[in-house]
Amino acid sequence: MSSQKKILTGFGSTAIHSGHQPDSNNAHLTPIYASSTYVFDSAEQGMRRFSKEEKGYIYSRWGNPTMTEAEEKISALESFGIIKNNEPLQLKSILHSSGMAAISALLLGKLKTGDKILSHFSLYGGTQELMDKVLPQLGIEAIIVDLRDLNKAEETLKNDDKIKMLYLETPANPTIQCVDINELTVMAKRKNIIVAVDNTFATPYLQQPFKYDVDFVFHSTTKFLNGHGTAIGGVLVGKDLEFMNERMEKVHRLLGGNSNPFDAFLLSQGIKTLELRMERHCKNAMEVAKFLQQNKAVSKVNYLGLASHPDHSTAEKQMLHPGAMLSFELKDGLEAGKKFINKLQMCVRAVSLGTCDTLLSHPASMTHFGVPKEKREQYGITDGLIRMSVGIENIDDILNDLERSLPNPSEEGA
Ligand SMILES: *Cc1c(COP(=O)(O)O)cnc(C)c1O
Repeated sequence: MSSQKKILTGFGSTAIHSGHQPDSNNAHLTPIYASSTYVFDSAEQGMRRFSKEEKGYIYSRWGNPTMTEAEEKISALESFGIIKNNEPLQLKSILHSSGMAAISALLLGKLKTGDKILSHFSLYGGTQELMDKVLPQLGIEAIIVDLRDLNKAEETLKNDDKIKMLYLETPANPTIQCVDINELTVMAKRKNIIVAVDNTFATPYLQQPFKYDVDFVFHSTTKFLNGHGTAIGGVLVGKDLEFMNERMEKVHRLLGGNSNPFDAFLLSQGIKTLELRMERHCKNAMEVAKFLQQNKAVSKVNYLGLASHPDHSTAEKQMLHPGAMLSFELKDGLEAGKKFINKLQMCVRAVSLGTCDTLLSHPASMTHFGVPKEKREQYGITDGLIRMSVGIENIDDILNDLERSLPNPSEEGA
């Protein structure tokens, strides 16, 4: 594999060719190894495998060739073009059953009672709930501040020696806020604090947190990496190979949040087109943002590609393009939001993101229905807010569907 990696100079080629696991029949694609266990030639070989003296698979909760392919692809992409100490950066990825499984495995593998974790207030709902409802039982406290305020971040880190991990998610749900990975990592490293980044919204094509010396990256591979909405999955990527191979591999195996060969196969096929898809996703998203900005029924558009987004410059600094996620506010609130969502004909009414098709959700009536209005609004989730994962359909079809479905002020007045 390493000789092949050396000849790959492009991101797209790396996504397509890296990680391939040869098999004895010379199958073109790495097969789906639907096997729970692996056969030993002898007791002695079993012993060598268990003692790690000999490389080889033992049991599929611990590893499987179809899963290895996806893991190696993700490592190759997250480290793509990054040189550290004159060597290409080496990473290890561990595939999980979901994004949440990858996140919780790291938190449980790294943190202990009495430790604190520092994060931004705009987080994926599941991550937020993990910090609110599961970590406190273990005596681990999450401190949530606005990490876009670098002075506040510095002061918080300075005044609390219990903080052991800085947890970043950028861009984040649903107002598409960004935090500065480089500035925050420099601060954290001064105090030897671990930095972990959820890179789901950006993907390694748009943003590579390992450029800035972070320690860990997560993905919900369910989203853009799979790209077709065919499987739930997650991955934890780390650069401390000893930690990843020993402690983290142990924690992963014991918690049992392993992926499976079929989902891993789907993921590897999806990753092959990541570059093409992201280019088109981002191009479409910019068009949609400009279109919405000019529409009279829309009072606000949150898209990182617009100069009006408060985190526009942070995004420009650390992302290749501003991504495929945006949100916008309808002037007439909850009713307008529901009406608009119901009128859509091509775009899909669904939560989740990162699929080929355009997905729209209305947080006030869906994901955040149970959250009191005042609390929702603190996080920027107003009644008329619509979240959109812009797909890779032809742009005219997306714009036509939006145009047809948005309230038409002249019509309403008539
Ligand atoms: C979806 C998502 C997750 C959780 O991933 P699952 O695969 O649903 O467990 C975590 N972080 C972000 C940013 C997400 O979008």
